[in-house]
Amino acid sequence: MAKYTDAKCRLCRREGCKLFLKGDRCFTEKCAQEKRAVAPGQHGRMRKKISEYAVQLREKQKTRRVYGVLERQFRGYFEKAEMQKGVTGTNLLVILERRLDNVVYRLGFANSRNQARQLVRHGIFTLNGHKVNIPSLQVKVGDTVEVPEKNRKIPVLAQAQEAIARRGCPAWLESDGVAFKGTVKALPQRDDIQFPVNEQLIVELYSK
Ligand code: SF4
Repeated sequence: MAKYTDAKCRLCRREGCKLFLKGDRCFTEKCAQEKRAVAPGQHGRMRKKISEYAVQLREKQKTRRVYGVLERQFRGYFEKAEMQKGVTGTNLLVILERRLDNVVYRLGFANSRNQARQLVRHGIFTLNGHKVNIPSLQVKVGDTVEVPEKNRKIPVLAQAQEAIARRGCPAWLESDGVAFKGTVKALPQRDDIQFPVNEQLIVELYSK
């Protein structure tokens, strides 16, 4: 499967905001977006006139990069969101939020969504008691994500659990760090998605 392998901080600098792609480092003074808040590349400092299309495109790219989803899959999520009842933009964000790798990150079992994806791929977690290794799985209400006893000594899990105090667990999830377990209490609502995104711009982009 294709994946982005270039420097992650470049993505934040391109989008002009912190996307929190590197776990703890994002909360320190080493954050590249804080040290050098200009777009990457030799023309990064140039002031450009931004078209309406460019604004919509950047919003889509930002959202895609936050969740670490490639274009084709993101487009597929949009088509799924369009077919659902309700507001397409909100549906899209809810679909992204319900991905298993995002849930693992939000429950505090990983420092970043990227790390969560790796851990899921390595089969570290169980979903409702069954081993899973598909980061894009959509969780449902009542689902339980757990770290089996034999995997609990992995150092990154302990580090991530320390960091969850700073990030906080969203209201739609319940995290039990001691039991290495998390439960999906409800489906995420628009207010649970905290990073600044104008999903309507993504809808407009794909509706052209
Ligand atoms: Fe983005 Fe984190 Fe890198 Fe800062 S440290 S630029 S927030 S990925």
